[in-house]
Amino acid sequence: MLRPSIVITSLLASCASSVELNEEAPEHHRRDGTFVNSNGKAIDKPLSALIKWQREAPDVIPLTLPSVPPQLDALTNPSDAQVTWIGHSTFLLQVDGLSILTDPIFSERASPVSFAGPKRTTPPAMTLEQLPPIDIVLISHNHYDHLDKPSIKALQSKQPDNPPSYYVPLRQKAWFDKLGVSDVTELDWWASAEIGNATVHAVPVQHWSSRSPFDRNKALWAGFVIDSPSLRTLFVGDSGYSNDFKAIAQRLGTVDLALVPIGAYDPRWFMKSAHMNPEEALQVVEDVGAKRAIGMHWGTFSLTDEPMAEPGERADATGVIETPKPGETIDLIGTLD
Ligand code: ZN
Ligand code: ZN
Repeated sequence: MLRPSIVITSLLASCASSVELNEEAPEHHRRDGTFVNSNGKAIDKPLSALIKWQREAPDVIPLTLPSVPPQLDALTNPSDAQVTWIGHSTFLLQVDGLSILTDPIFSERASPVSFAGPKRTTPPAMTLEQLPPIDIVLISHNHYDHLDKPSIKALQSKQPDNPPSYYVPLRQKAWFDKLGVSDVTELDWWASAEIGNATVHAVPVQHWSSRSPFDRNKALWAGFVIDSPSLRTLFVGDSGYSNDFKAIAQRLGTVDLALVPIGAYDPRWFMKSAHMNPEEALQVVEDVGAKRAIGMHWGTFSLTDEPMAEPGERADATGVIETPKPGETIDLIGTLD
């Protein structure tokens, strides 16, 4: 079955590149202006592999996750450490007076166009209008299911006088400039920014970037550690399993909460380098010493071959990674000792 997928156009662009190391820059910066993973490699699949995957892909039955109505009172009067899963990789993380939104996507499709591309099967747990004022938006990378133009534009018009501050990986700022969004800070891996009494660190993860056939790996991808007095959180973004997670714990210390991707992992021969499965996500949770972990990147868009309910079932089977319903606000105060 040929599935319309954002992955397709991007993978078509994969040109085998014998890129050279840029010696004055960090090792993940290449002289041709692209980035590689911390293992020195770019994720590059030949076209033949893409065709094989598409030819063998099964029909995936759409799944709508049961959600709970947003607890608007809790969102407008948050505790010092609470988190709400809105769907896919979009969380509302509220810590010490800051409202932080991760990879916001409220659109019907994860696609450059509104009439084609992966369609949402579970609606967002709340509308953009129901969000409390957002202070910070974190963008892990530029794939369409993580960086959604209509959602960013809507956030900007919703808060014309106090727009959010955006933290994005290196070389992603130009995209925001074109949109007229100015409060954008680019972070390289291991760089950080102070925001009030919180610090946001960009950290390496194993993935790739692309929004068109011409921009593969020209912008960086990242996870974020959000360090505030009441909670230290790792938002993984999109990643395969790698040694990056042990490195994160070594350099920045263990975390209280890990927001980990658990879906888009089949077929393994094609997806493993870029997307972890729930068991690998459990390894991440252990690597970073997280006291609690919540699964994301599942149950919202069908991007790959596994049945849509399977990531949640396998995460539940770990006994560690939680799978809250979209819309449920989890108060973490007093639960992390
Ligand atoms: Zn991605
Ligand atoms: Zn993704």
